[in-house]
Amino acid sequence: MDVNAYRLSAEAFMTDLTREYYLHYAGLKEAYEIEPIYGRHEELFTAQAIDSLREQRAATEPGNDESRRLRMLLDFAVEGYLGQETKALEAELARREAALTVHVRDRRIGFRESSVVQANEPDADVRADIEWARNELTESELGTLDRELLERQHRCTAALGWGSYSEMCAEVKSIDLAALHFQTAAFNADSEARFPAVLGPEVQRTLGIDLAQLRRSDLVRFFRAPEEDGQFPADRLVPSFMETMLGLGIDVADQSAVHLDLDSRPNKSPRAFCAPVGVPGEVHLVLTPVGGRDDFGVLLHEGGHTEHFANVDPKLPFEYRYLGDNAITEAYAFLFEHLIEDPEWLRRRLGIEDAGSLLAHGRAQRLIYVRRYVAKLAYELELHAAPHGRSWDDLSARYAQLIGDALQLEWPRQTFLADVDPGFYCAAYLRAWALETHLRAYLRESFGPAWFEHREAGDALRRFWAEGQRLGAEEMLDELTGRRLEFGVLLEDLGLVGT
Ligand SMILES: [Zn+2]
Repeated sequence: MDVNAYRLSAEAFMTDLTREYYLHYAGLKEAYEIEPIYGRHEELFTAQAIDSLREQRAATEPGNDESRRLRMLLDFAVEGYLGQETKALEAELARREAALTVHVRDRRIGFRESSVVQANEPDADVRADIEWARNELTESELGTLDRELLERQHRCTAALGWGSYSEMCAEVKSIDLAALHFQTAAFNADSEARFPAVLGPEVQRTLGIDLAQLRRSDLVRFFRAPEEDGQFPADRLVPSFMETMLGLGIDVADQSAVHLDLDSRPNKSPRAFCAPVGVPGEVHLVLTPVGGRDDFGVLLHEGGHTEHFANVDPKLPFEYRYLGDNAITEAYAFLFEHLIEDPEWLRRRLGIEDAGSLLAHGRAQRLIYVRRYVAKLAYELELHAAPHGRSWDDLSARYAQLIGDALQLEWPRQTFLADVDPGFYCAAYLRAWALETHLRAYLRESFGPAWFEHREAGDALRRFWAEGQRLGAEEMLDELTGRRLEFGVLLEDLGLVGT
């Protein structure tokens, strides 16, 4: 197989697929026509292409540039192959999910919008009813398809010659999942005792209940935090983003590659996203503002992805511009998103002098996320281990136990498959959170607490961004500070060490 021809085809595929995704989910094109795109690039996702990439990679010097690029292509090919093999099931799941209705107390709510309705619902018992009804539907209407999907993924992995799905992901993504599990489990053990003290006062302040009364169904409301909306006025949303980037020497309005889409459109997805159609030449940031704190966090998050992709060196090979370790781009996204928890930024951009409660709430939310993802990784490693012969019942019980223990509340069993992201994306998030904490500390030490107002900090970021995703998160940190990627910094950042 000619690898250079493969690269050219892969880049054309990525551009076409991302453009189709952008047009459909921005509400600019009704049909989502991805079949013809896959059809034009059939040769990319065959078992033969995967075998050939593995063979060619085996013949390279481990760690050299060619070996690295072939590994990224292999990751791309495997993901596309599994995607091809499961696309009919995925489409059927999406079709059913879009048609489902949750019935709660004489109300009918779309399955997909039910979590938004739940977040906006002030009555805790109604929230619990919405969630119970949605979970029942997840099991009764989607459960069979979810199980088929997982079995299909595992069968394909075996057919490609890997011992397990975990083994395959660890190899093609070059992540030591077992070591990451060990490190992150230590984070959960070390933050266990302080967790109630971080969460309790915030649950009391925002939901008006004791921690002992907190249910799984209250978490979306806790994250929504409507009482904070007043501090994040809609007319400051875009200006605060533009000013932040200007402080770093980036005039977003003047970047020909960056396209902001904040308009309302009937069929526009409520979920914000960044679509890197061309890296670095054409990047779309799509968001439908709904008001409040979330809009600011989401715009900054997607803005971090957007600036990363728009600043990649155009001379880099395809793999480093489009593929590689997603913990890298997620770290830049979180670096900006976390500005809404930064007292300097809140004061300078939004005029908030007393950010005490915002910081306490942000800290509790972040700790919930990290602890949940640590438990998710532990669970997914069991789910995707070599044939374990465990029953669905056993796995769903294990899922509820691991996440419930991490969050110290009762967790439902029904979402044990729906809650799983493909390709161990949970590992990308966990490593991104650790990398972002290191990166933010580096920027603060180098440029001061208002690092986002220093052009030199922008110069440093542009140097990192130019590299695309050539390096993994661990390698990038090693080059930057000589330090190892570890989770002790997260404990420290969340104020969980010492007295
Ligand atoms: Zn992201």
